[in-house]
Amino acid sequence: MKSFDVVVIGAGPAGYVAAIRSAQLGFSTAVVDKWIGKDGKPSLGGTCLNVGCIPSKALLESSEQYYQATSHLETHGIRFKQLSFDVPKMIARKDGIVHTLTQGVQYLFKKNKITWLQGEGRLAGNNRITVTTHDRSKDEVEAQHIIIATGSAPRDIPNVETDNEFIFDSAGALNFQEVPEKLVVIGAGVIGLELGSVWRRLGSNVVLLEALDTFLPSVDEQVSQAAMKEFNRQGLDIRLGTRVLSAKAAKKKVTVQYQDANGDHSLECDKIVVAVGRKPCSDRINAEGVGLLLDERGYIHVDEFCKTNLPNVYAVGDIVRGPMLAHKGSEEGVMVAERLAGEETRVNYEAIPWVIYTAPEIAWVGKTERQLKQAARVYKTGVFPLSASGRAQAMGETAGLVKVIADAKTDRILGVHMFAPSASELIMEAVVAMEFAASAEDLQRVVHAHPSISEALHEAALAVDGRPLHI
Ligand code: FAD
Ligand code: NAD
Repeated sequence: MKSFDVVVIGAGPAGYVAAIRSAQLGFSTAVVDKWIGKDGKPSLGGTCLNVGCIPSKALLESSEQYYQATSHLETHGIRFKQLSFDVPKMIARKDGIVHTLTQGVQYLFKKNKITWLQGEGRLAGNNRITVTTHDRSKDEVEAQHIIIATGSAPRDIPNVETDNEFIFDSAGALNFQEVPEKLVVIGAGVIGLELGSVWRRLGSNVVLLEALDTFLPSVDEQVSQAAMKEFNRQGLDIRLGTRVLSAKAAKKKVTVQYQDANGDHSLECDKIVVAVGRKPCSDRINAEGVGLLLDERGYIHVDEFCKTNLPNVYAVGDIVRGPMLAHKGSEEGVMVAERLAGEETRVNYEAIPWVIYTAPEIAWVGKTERQLKQAARVYKTGVFPLSASGRAQAMGETAGLVKVIADAKTDRILGVHMFAPSASELIMEAVVAMEFAASAEDLQRVVHAHPSISEALHEAALAVDGRPLHI
């Protein structure tokens, strides 16, 4: 039987990063992964690289280029005689990017001498893992340390069965070969907004049916209100407080039945995307058989260092508590590998950035006002609207705002929220500031390049003390 210092189950961003860091630290390392790519071949990178972060951003980029060309270039004095797009080519470009990056992980495995075991891993007890390969043969490997990183899969809802012909999950919605004339997205969360935006920008009439009465409840209220207004302007029809009862396909159309405060409704469309959250993949690893503790929702129970209740078994990424974000999982992977090597690494869960890749982007780090009120914290806020930013005016991207929240007594930054172009990049200034326990005054004293969107963060920090310069 082959034996390794570390065996990781799952090669998504949590697992493959855990493996690379383990190998860098001198551990003999193997990764078991069962993913089969679109080309029918085993593929590394998990959800994120194959059907998540990367392909969705590739399509967001393509669709945004088209949207800019149709809706903004005229204001710059640029005219086209004819403009068209080719959906299969966009999808092929996206597939090419996925291929490059998943091959890149293969290269990194080779470079770091990581063994790739293709197939499904199952805990067998006594530091052993059974691997069922794609041709159904079985093998057993031994590991001094096991890191479980089996990730998550789309949740479904009763009476709405995904067939990826008319009713799609998020992976299926990345592969449409034509723009649906009418698209219904169930769930106006992160995936719903990102994929809804892709197809809206290409001309689809998109309706988002959201169960909650509140739009994006974990986002700062001022940001979510500004975003709702802007998304409505872009043509996303977001209907809150809806209860989907069923969806059925017939004669190349789908009909969705739903209820809201005004009664029962029936909506006909060409395609439906179900984006109602994700569930942890913990049902096929023999958790019960080996006594691995799960919580009531199926997440593997871990402490702050990602240790499970079993000795030498760790779990990282979407399979454990906390936000389902690639970078959160990767940092957990690094932490576990480094702690195995005797280092004191920890993840600062208070400073994990979130980004929703709409246009403009929504990004935040730290606490919202709602959370601070609930915790009876005394705070002050500073807000700067993008309409007052010279760079935003030059870009023609003036919808949005940046907000800084600081402790009323100590001035320490507690949260930063933005709805702004390139917020995914700009938020990192706030993350670094919070990692270094910066105050709003620290941000005020930093010289920001002019003209740049980052000046809006500078101004929001100044506004915390009531002294913005440009509003
Ligand atoms: P996963 O990426 O899910 O990988 C788990 C791997 O384990 C898979 O390869 C799976 O096949 C394998 N596996 C499972 N069980 C077994 C087993 N028993 N044996 C062997 N292998 C197994 N996050 C962001 O931070 N930014 C984004 O922009 C972003 N966009 C997203 C867009 C979409 C459409 C989706 C669906 C998700 C997006 N996410 C994004 C979330 C992100 O993809 C996940 O948080 C991330 O992939 C989780 O990483 P992971 O390694 O924990 O699990
Ligand atoms: P989500 O939790 O962001 O949104 C799901 C939405 O569906 C919620 O608003 C929820 O209230 C709603 N909902 C649930 N049941 C419903 C029902 N029966 N009818 C109508 N609405 C219903 O989940 P998601 O959008 O599926 O994404 C899953 C996770 O993947 C995210 O939470 C995030 O962690 C990750 N992700 C991250 C990014 C990013 O970082 N940019 C992008 C995509 C996905």
